Amino acid sequence: MIPWLGEEEAEAAAEAVRSGWVAQGPRVAAFERAFAEHLGVEHAVAVSSCTTALHLALIGAGVGPGDEVVVPSLSFVATANAVTYVGAVPVFADVDPATGNLTAATVEPLLTGRTRAVVAVDQGGVPVDLDGIRAVVEPRGVTVVEDAACGAGSVYRDRPVGAGAELAAYSFHPRKLLTTGEGGMVTCRDGGLAARLRRLREHGMSVSAADRHAGAGGASVLETYDEIGFNYRMTDIQAAIGLVQLRKLPAMVARRRELAARYRELLAGTGARLVDDPPHGTTNYQSCWVLPPEGAPDRAELLVRLAEAGVSARRGIMAAHLEAPYKGTGRVPLPATELLTRRSLILPLHHALTEEQQDRVVAALRAALG
Ligand SMILES: *Cc1c(COP(=O)(O)O)cnc(C)c1O
Repeated sequence: MIPWLGEEEAEAAAEAVRSGWVAQGPRVAAFERAFAEHLGVEHAVAVSSCTTALHLALIGAGVGPGDEVVVPSLSFVATANAVTYVGAVPVFADVDPATGNLTAATVEPLLTGRTRAVVAVDQGGVPVDLDGIRAVVEPRGVTVVEDAACGAGSVYRDRPVGAGAELAAYSFHPRKLLTTGEGGMVTCRDGGLAARLRRLREHGMSVSAADRHAGAGGASVLETYDEIGFNYRMTDIQAAIGLVQLRKLPAMVARRRELAARYRELLAGTGARLVDDPPHGTTNYQSCWVLPPEGAPDRAELLVRLAEAGVSARRGIMAAHLEAPYKGTGRVPLPATELLTRRSLILPLHHALTEEQQDRVVAALRAALG
């Protein structure tokens, strides 16, 4: 993934530096407003990463020690780690092999009296069926937090991904579509909760440093620290870049979908399956993953053959339950997760990819498949 950054972002960052205000300030506030407006949600709280966004979202959902949180193992490890940060236990559910995402059917058997939340991931940008999961868990008092780290620019039931969630978390790491270098966002419906998340990202301070400086409430107002918070702030330099990137998001998604459609055409007849739009939405193709046909050489061999042909494909999504901290903690078999993590690979896809390069990738894949 090569981020789509240019002079406009460089200029915006430089302007923030020249202004003298580089920590969380007016540009962060403007980025939050623009992001909330893009999603059509009430509240967006900018933070330092999606990992910290997930941490705050889980605190906001009231998850704590002794609770269980159902998560996909097939995700970047931060999804499970955030659950561990709040002292809860991640309970791994399997995914739909077609989308790589949790479904109501994979989540429901894992619900217990201790389940407090479900983290539903939009893996690789493919929208998860949020409503389907909410319908089975909400009647049991369980909150769905959407890990929309990969989801900016994807659509779920005619709305931007995450817009329908009680709490959603986004990533602006350069491996995602929209980047601020590092960065994240939590969105939520409730104003009181948004205010608490704003305090938590800034050491639990009752009045933010930016507001005190701007004289809101008067510089003489003494802040208090009513609960233990964190330093999860985004800087104004990052937010300045984010504002430019957000304007570019529709073009980024259009370009990726165009390239992915061409990959799909070129792959016809190879037996390799390209991840696709689910019935309930459209993906931003943040990851363009393919599942090679049964009987194909194993993935390590495919990656070697592709590398020899000058094509840098990557392994597909990891599975947390196969990594040291979570090994042996599974409660149910995860056959689709294990198939996808073992077999899938991610094809090169970035805005500047040419048709010739794409042709070369697919020719190499055809040859590698034998
Ligand atoms: C990238 C990613 C994260 C972590 O995002 P950061 O901004 O790097 O902290 C979390 N969850 C998923 C599904 C991701 O893809």
